[in-house]
Parts: sequence; structure tokens; C-alpha cells
Amino acid sequence: MSNNDTIYDVIVIGGGLAGLTSTIELARSGRKVLLIEKKEYPYHKVCGEYISNEVLPYLRSLGFDPIAFGAADIKRLRLSTPHGKNIYTNLDMGGFGISRYTIDNELYKLAVSKGAEVLMNTRVTDVTFADNQFTVTTNDATYTSKLVIGSYGKRDTLDKKLDREFIQQHTGYTGVKYHIKIDYPHDEIGLDNFKDGYCGISRVEGDTYNLCYLSYRAPKDEFRNIAELEEKVLFKNPVLKDIFQRATFLWDAPLVITQVSFEPKQLIENHIMMCGDAAGLITPLCGNGMSMAIGAAKLLTGLIEESEILDRSNITATDRQQLEDCYTKLWNKQFKTRLYWGRKIQGFFGNPLLTSAFLNTVHSIPPLERRLIGLTHGKVL
Ligand SMILES: Cc1cc2nc3c(=O)[nH]c(=O)nc-3n(C[C@H](O)[C@H](O)[C@H](O)COP(=O)(O)OP(=O)(O)OC[C@H]3O[C@@H](n4cnc5c(N)ncnc54)[C@H](O)[C@@H]3O)c2cc1C
Repeated sequence: MSNNDTIYDVIVIGGGLAGLTSTIELARSGRKVLLIEKKEYPYHKVCGEYISNEVLPYLRSLGFDPIAFGAADIKRLRLSTPHGKNIYTNLDMGGFGISRYTIDNELYKLAVSKGAEVLMNTRVTDVTFADNQFTVTTNDATYTSKLVIGSYGKRDTLDKKLDREFIQQHTGYTGVKYHIKIDYPHDEIGLDNFKDGYCGISRVEGDTYNLCYLSYRAPKDEFRNIAELEEKVLFKNPVLKDIFQRATFLWDAPLVITQVSFEPKQLIENHIMMCGDAAGLITPLCGNGMSMAIGAAKLLTGLIEESEILDRSNITATDRQQLEDCYTKLWNKQFKTRLYWGRKIQGFFGNPLLTSAFLNTVHSIPPLERRLIGLTHGKVL
């Protein structure tokens, strides 16, 4: 199939939270927008599924209220050291728990209702920019547009095609996610540390809980399988062992992703404006990647509209450069510090003695504890 005769205002590559939010915003401004997503909604995704409340009013303004879909209201944080000592603190802003299965699917429906075209089960394999327009190639067609938003997440073969620097580095970071049933406080998110990683637990819709961890090790290098990693490493923390042993696991096998990278990335690649994890992934212990993805989409689409670039019959190189510069400046202002502190704080985790010392020290100085949480979060959107 080919669709060469239509020139879209914007093609959005990847329909996670950054891509879906961008698509909804552009469609509701009356833009001709095409979202291309390689999977089919609804589907599960590796993620802790705890979203900071900073995005709640904005999501409602788009027409999606997570609470109406049974999202959990989360107010308290429990941290355990690798040796199993619990520390409790209140979350000033708090957050909500909702599965990606639900939120992504509902935002997809919203995007369609606003008039966006959405292609599912379609993978973008290449993007080129020439003669002032983009050509986006998928597994079965090519499409053209004036602008392209790259919101295809943490890592994709597209990054290789674009020769992005971070893709050259191999990381051992592995993400593992389950949905479970368990007797656990409804309004609490737990972050349980283990040697070389940490595991989150919090409620999503109904009485289902998300259990998701990041291990700095590539399990296949040292263990026969994920179960062995859990038994030999995670279960050294007695709190985690208890959670795993009491849980009823709802899936036959966990969802697993490997090669997760927290390295800084280029925001603009060959005029593609990156958004969400494709622009930079904050360490999951901050519980802030999803609100950053939504916030970056709001920022970028707001700038596109403000620039009026899509109203011009001919976009000049200067127009494009101004938009890209403005996005870069404001993205750095809004997100760069959070990514930096996320990496720094994660540096204290992993080594059991250092993690325990760090958590005990920070917890004994409440203003410092609040400051560290504040540094990795933003204001209400
Ligand atoms: C272990 C772990 C736990 C986490 N826990 C939390 C948490 O509790 N709270 C939080 O806020 N954040 C958390 N995060 C971060 C959060 O998941 C991400 O920041 C968020 O999903 C970013 O959204 P996104 O839209 O940028 O990317 P994604 O949600 O990953 O969406 C990218 C989309 O692009 C599609 N795609 C990829 N390649 C292509 C292609 N070539 N063509 C077409 N489509 C493509 C994918 O199928 C996907 O749907 C966690 C991350 C990890 C690794």
C-alpha cells in the first residue's frame, strides 16, 4: 500500500504516552496528523504504572480522567533497604496507578475521536528529510509530512538507522514486569532495593497490583532465567521475598525488556523532534517517566501551534530552525535537571551498603528527602 498523495502536517512515530498525547493535541487543533504504532492497542508494556499527579489536571483537560477508569490514589512511599529495613514517607504531590493496557488504549480512542489517523501493527523502518519534507517508510508503505515527532520510546532499530550515539553502548539494565494480586496497602507505592537493582509495587485498577523491577545485570549473563535471578538476588531482601511469595501472579510469564539506556540523547535528529523516552529516559526510581513523556508532548505541540509553522504554505529552513531551537531550549529547561538527578540518585542504589547508608541519611533529614523528590519531579502541568 502507498499513500503518496497525502502530505500530513505531522507524522507521529510511536503511540506510547508521548505519541498519543502529541496526536490528541495536534488533532484537536485541526491538524492532519498520522500516528504510526507498531503494536495493537490494548497491550501490556514494561512500566511501573505509577504516574505523578502533576499530569492529572492536564489529562482531564484532554478528556481522559484516570480516576473514572479505576486508577488507584497513591499518597505514601515505602522504601526498603537491601537488608529489608522499611522507611516510610508521605508523597507531597502523590500520584495514581493505572495500567498501560488501559491508559494507552483510552488515549488511543481519544486520538481517533479527535480525528487523528492511527495505523496499528505498522512499524516505521526509516525516515528521511529532503526538499523540505519528510518521507516516513513503514513495513508496507511510505508517507510524507511537514513535521515528524519521534516518540518511539527507549530503543528501536530506528535509532540504528539514525545512527544515534547512545545505541552504540550496550547496557545490562533489564526491566521485568508482572501483574499480581496481593494483600498490600492501596495507597502506598513500595520501592524495594536489592543488590544491583530495585523493585516497585503499587496498585493499578481494581485489586490488581503492578510488580516491576529494574536490574542492572543482564540476567542471561549470570543466571539460567529470570526466576533464578529473583531467587538468588531479589530474595536477599526479606521484604521482597515476602511480596513475591505472597503474590498471585496473573500472567504465565513476566514481560521483559533489555538494553535499557539512561544515557543522554540528542533531542533533534535529522529534523525529527524527539519526545518522551526517545528524547531521554529518566531512571524509573523517580516514577516520573510517564509524566515527562506527557509533559514533553504538551510542550512540543504547544510550540508547534505557537510558531504557526503549519499554517505556512512554505516552511523555510529558518522557520524550522527556530522551532527546533525553541523546543531544545525549553525541553532542557524543563527536563534536563530531572534526568541528571535521576542518574545521580540511581548511582547510590545497587550497592547494598551504599543504598542503606544513602536511604537512612536522606530519611533522617526530611527537608533533604523532600528536595530530592522535588528535584526529580516537575510542577503541575
Ligand atoms: C522498569 C521500568 C519501570 C518504569 N516505571 C515507571 C513508573 O512507575 N512511572 C513512570 O512515570 N515511568 C516509569 N517508567 C518510564 C516510563 O515507562 C516511560 O518513561 C514512558 O513509557 C515513556 O513513554 P513514551 O511514550 O516515550 O514511550 P513508550 O511508552 O515506550 O512508547 C513508545 C511506543 O512506540 C512504539 N514504537 C517503537 N518503535 C516503533 C517503530 N519503529 N514504529 C512504530 N512504533 C514504534 C512502541 O510500540 C510504543 O508503543 C519505567 C521504565 C522502566 C524501564
